[in-house]
Amino acid sequence: MKKNLIALVGVIAMITGMAVFLNQRQNVEAEKTTSERVRVVSTNSIIDDMVQNVGGKYVENYSIVARGTDPHEYEPRPTDIAATAEADVVFYNGLNLETGGNGWFKKLVKSSKKTFGEDVFAVSKGIKVRYLTTNNSQPDPHAWLDLANGIKYVETINQTLQKKDPQHAKAYQQNTDKYVAKLTKLHQQAKTKFKQVPAAQRLLVTSEGAFKYFSAAYDIPAAYIWEVNTESQGTPEQMKTVIAKIHESKVKRLFVESSVSPKSMKKLAQETKLPIASTIFTDSLAAEGKPGSTYYDMMKWNLDKIYNGIK
Ligand SMILES: [Zn+2]
Repeated sequence: MKKNLIALVGVIAMITGMAVFLNQRQNVEAEKTTSERVRVVSTNSIIDDMVQNVGGKYVENYSIVARGTDPHEYEPRPTDIAATAEADVVFYNGLNLETGGNGWFKKLVKSSKKTFGEDVFAVSKGIKVRYLTTNNSQPDPHAWLDLANGIKYVETINQTLQKKDPQHAKAYQQNTDKYVAKLTKLHQQAKTKFKQVPAAQRLLVTSEGAFKYFSAAYDIPAAYIWEVNTESQGTPEQMKTVIAKIHESKVKRLFVESSVSPKSMKKLAQETKLPIASTIFTDSLAAEGKPGSTYYDMMKWNLDKIYNGIK
């Protein structure tokens, strides 16, 4: 009888022990799945959207510059520094994009103790660089406005994630293949469409000269008020130059970007008596849920609005 009781206590203790052990193990597993996700920080919404398309459920993403705001000039917040310090991978555009405000991004990398080439990567790696006209030693940052370059960004993100997280390499590759196919189709359609626009009407007028890569890809020359957002915006000299260019062409409409102040473009519209056809996206995606809230949608929006505006 006593023996049986001891045995019973032993069995109960064993079961309890097992239960505790299993419970602990479950907690460990739960923690593992969260920490296993690759923590990726991107400097802006365009790169962040590409990361989500490639990484899917295996990445935990954080985007620094808010949608609708200018990524050239920025003052990182404490939450940006914390997220960057904890990140496994940090993606930035490079090509002189994040250099305003005395190089805000370089400072952020330093204060969050990250290292270029180890955990900080430029998505513009391998792009054929175009330079600013006003300062031709400075690269023009807006390479993503040519979809062929956007595809290169996506491939760099894919290769980097595969190296950091080889366990999910296959999934990253599959996501990339699907996404690149979609972007390639849009790129080819746009090239075909723009060929139909008469040469004299081929002029894209915007506030910032962000369209050098776009112009080269889709054969649409561009005119602008200022060349890059870090310059002074809308000076009398700049207005005079752009008005002269407009008068040399047969362009019918103007465009204004979502991430700049519309003040100068409104003034240009008054002075040239040309209407502003539409808002377009250059340096930022639209707010979530609005048209233009992904890189694909932003490019489709721009290509459609620009084609309808100049044709
Ligand atoms: Zn810009």
